[in-house]
Amino acid sequence: MASIGASRYLATMNGPAATPQTPARQRKPDWIRVKAPTSPGYAETRRLMRSLGLATVCEEAACPNIGECWTKKHATVMILGDTCTRACAFCNVKTGMPRAVDPLEPEHVAVAAAELGLEHIVVTSVDRDDLSDGGASQFVKVIEALRKRTPGTTIEILTPDFRNKSEKAVDAIVEAGPDVYNHNLETVPRLYPTIRPGARYYASLRLLESVKRKAPHIFTKSGLMVGLGEQRLEVHQVMDDMRSAGVDFLTMGQYLQPTPRHAKVEEFVTPQAFDAYAAIARAKGFLLVAASPLTRSSYHAGDDFRKMQAARAAQLERAKG
Ligand code: SF4
Repeated sequence: MASIGASRYLATMNGPAATPQTPARQRKPDWIRVKAPTSPGYAETRRLMRSLGLATVCEEAACPNIGECWTKKHATVMILGDTCTRACAFCNVKTGMPRAVDPLEPEHVAVAAAELGLEHIVVTSVDRDDLSDGGASQFVKVIEALRKRTPGTTIEILTPDFRNKSEKAVDAIVEAGPDVYNHNLETVPRLYPTIRPGARYYASLRLLESVKRKAPHIFTKSGLMVGLGEQRLEVHQVMDDMRSAGVDFLTMGQYLQPTPRHAKVEEFVTPQAFDAYAAIARAKGFLLVAASPLTRSSYHAGDDFRKMQAARAAQLERAKG
C-alpha cells in the first residue's frame, strides 16, 4: 500500500548508531508503550468513520498512536477501499482484489473533515495497480471535494508510487493543488526486494523529485522506518537521496511487526539514536525533521505543517538578506 503512516523504521556498516536492543521474542521496550484507546473523542471518531463507510490507516495498519490521535479527532483517511493490490512485508493492510471505486468516497471524506473540524487532513490510499490511473483521479476528486466543503482545511496526501504511470498521476494530483505531497521511501534500497517487493526505490525517488520540479511551492515529505536491518550509513545515503529530490520534510519511526507473519523487528532503535539521526538530517538541509520511535507519517501532521510554513518563511526572509 501507500506506505502508510502506520508503518514507518540500525546496525551499521561501521557499527551501531547507538546501543541497539536486539528484541527477544519481539518484546517492546519501555519507550514504545502507548495509551489504550478509550476516550470519548476516540469513540466519536470511530463512529463517524463507520457511519460514512470510510477506512482509516490508523485502524488498518494497527497504528500505535490511535488512542492519542483519535482522542484529538485526528484520523488519516484511507481512500480507494481497504484492500491493497500489493503485499509489502511490513504492512498490515489486507491484500487481494479490491472492490470497485466508491464514487461517494470524495464527498464522504469532505463530510468527515467538516464534522471532525479538521484544520489539516491527511489522505492516503491502498495501492491500486488494477486501475488504469492507479487511483490518481480519486485523489483529485477528494482534494476538490475538500476544497469545496472545507476550504480552510489544509490538505496532505500520502500516495502510492503509481507504478508505471506516475508521470500522469503526479501531473493530475499536483494540478489539484494539495498543500503537502507525501510519498514514503520506507526503507533503504537494499531491503526493497524483501520489504517492499512490488516497488522500486529509484521510481519512488523520481516521483518525489517530479512533484518538487512541477510544483516547488507544494511541500514534499517522505518517511523511513528503522529497525528492519538497515545500516546507519545506508540511512544517511537515503537522506542524501531525498535532499537531491528536494524533499522538505523527513519522518522517521520505529518499525513494529503487526503480526508474526510480517517482517521481524531486527532492532529497537533507541530514542538517543533517533536524536542522532535527526541531527544529521537537519545538517543535510531538510526544512523539518520528525524522528522518534513513535513517529509516523501522519503523526502530528497539522502541527508539523505549520512548522514547515514557518521554516520556509524564515528561509525566504534569510534569502532576502
Ligand atoms: S499517527 Fe497517523 S496513522 Fe497513526 S493514529 Fe495518528 S493519524 Fe492515524
